[in-house]
Amino acid sequence: MDVRMLIAGEFVEGEGPAEDILDPATGAVLARVAEASPEQVQAAVQAAERAFPAWARTPPKDRAALLLKLAAAVEARDAEFARLESLNCGKPYALVLEDEIPAVADVFRFFAGAVRCMQGGLAGEYVAGYTSMVRRDALGVVASIAPWNYPLMMAAWKLGPALAAGNTVVLKPSEQTPLTTLKLAQLMAELLPAGVVNVVTGRGESVGAPLVAQPQVRMVSLTGDVSTGQKVLEAAARGMKRTHLELGGKAPVIVFNDADLEAVVSGIRTFGFYNAGQDCTAACRVYAGRKVYDRLVADLSSAVSSIKVGAQETQGVEMGPLISAHQRERVAGFVERAAQLPHVEVTTGGRAGEGKGFFYAPTVVAGARQEDEIVRREVFGPVVSVTRFDDVEQAITWANDSDYGLASSVWTRDVSKALRVAAQLQYGCTWVNSHFMLVSEMPHGGMKHSGYGKDLSTYALEDYTCVRHVMLKH
Ligand code: NAD
Repeated sequence: MDVRMLIAGEFVEGEGPAEDILDPATGAVLARVAEASPEQVQAAVQAAERAFPAWARTPPKDRAALLLKLAAAVEARDAEFARLESLNCGKPYALVLEDEIPAVADVFRFFAGAVRCMQGGLAGEYVAGYTSMVRRDALGVVASIAPWNYPLMMAAWKLGPALAAGNTVVLKPSEQTPLTTLKLAQLMAELLPAGVVNVVTGRGESVGAPLVAQPQVRMVSLTGDVSTGQKVLEAAARGMKRTHLELGGKAPVIVFNDADLEAVVSGIRTFGFYNAGQDCTAACRVYAGRKVYDRLVADLSSAVSSIKVGAQETQGVEMGPLISAHQRERVAGFVERAAQLPHVEVTTGGRAGEGKGFFYAPTVVAGARQEDEIVRREVFGPVVSVTRFDDVEQAITWANDSDYGLASSVWTRDVSKALRVAAQLQYGCTWVNSHFMLVSEMPHGGMKHSGYGKDLSTYALEDYTCVRHVMLKH
């Protein structure tokens, strides 16, 4: 495939060193993608800056029309995008086709509609003889930096609100998973004016950092690790740039004694292991009431051991490999250290898969305690811990006792209890009797070390615009 970058409407080879792009299910090299040189990063930002005034002045309905065309173009090539994403990430092909590609198209469509319905502010005379009004305007060039776990979806989450609002973008996909973003760039080059979107490839230190440092970049949007967020924040502070940070997570799943256990088991089996657990909202930190703990551990372990693991197009496959050998070692390290604790039992999984791919068995770690590493740190793999709690207060305290604050869930038949607990959780999202459900209309984003800023929803449009006051003397 064509793996050239998009700068100023032209496809160009990266001038920096090339990186092997792997199929995580086999370890085979799919492509070699060259990295942008510092001059190319600068050229991409300059192209975005040149394109900004005209794009910002383009009426919302015209920007929306182009986003709608982009959504249709992605949908028309859904199988191609799904195949490429599944190859590059190791994801089950059928799930990418059914879940991710429609969600990508929907995000572009949502922002196409939402930007035409933006509201707010008052116009009026607050000093005699003057009329004031509030505007919401685009910011300028946005540097968007994406992670490897949902490459195309993260590109859509970043491009949708930024472009709809009238900003221009330089997008850097993860160095491990650039392929679908580069394919999207080909569609965008046909539809959008030159320079409105530019795509540069390469690693964080050598391409991401220089991108953030460009003086014309007015906002940096990052989805990635907490430590990367800290680096980006420090660099952005030097240039007084806006930041939008979606960082990691360690979602608590509170299961009360009166919960529908069958639904809980099915929910954690699905949402703890979706995308091999490489998901910042993964249902990975279970707290179970004392009365249901034993049954939950037994039923969950049995259900998790039935998850079908395999390569992308294996019949009925539910879970693929991890993204890299490094990620698998990291995950295995967490489980090995947990297994050494006397109170912990690994009830299923706890081993790497066979063959050359980066597979790791779906794993349940029972008996984990609040202070254990496996409960506190983000594993970002197919590993769920289960911890027993005594009462509601303890469950809430433990759930909140985390550096992270992205997603959480509460499972109970008592609606009043569910709402009382949800109100006390310090997380950007709380699901009741469910987990992981995202919709374009509702905000997604964190608190605490999980970052700030909202993806999806009209709140994202607010994040990608600024409020301005215009005052007219009569
Ligand atoms: P990462 O932080 O290593 O990389 C993310 C992106 O940042 C990559 O494109 C990388 O090249 C770039 N980068 C790295 N160092 C940089 C620097 N100094 N300056 C500029 N850019 C830099 O994260 P990852 O390993 O790709 O993704 C996994 C992490 O992302 C997990 O912690 C996960 O929880 C998080 N994540 C969060 C969300 C969310 O919505 N909150 C969604 C997906 C992933």
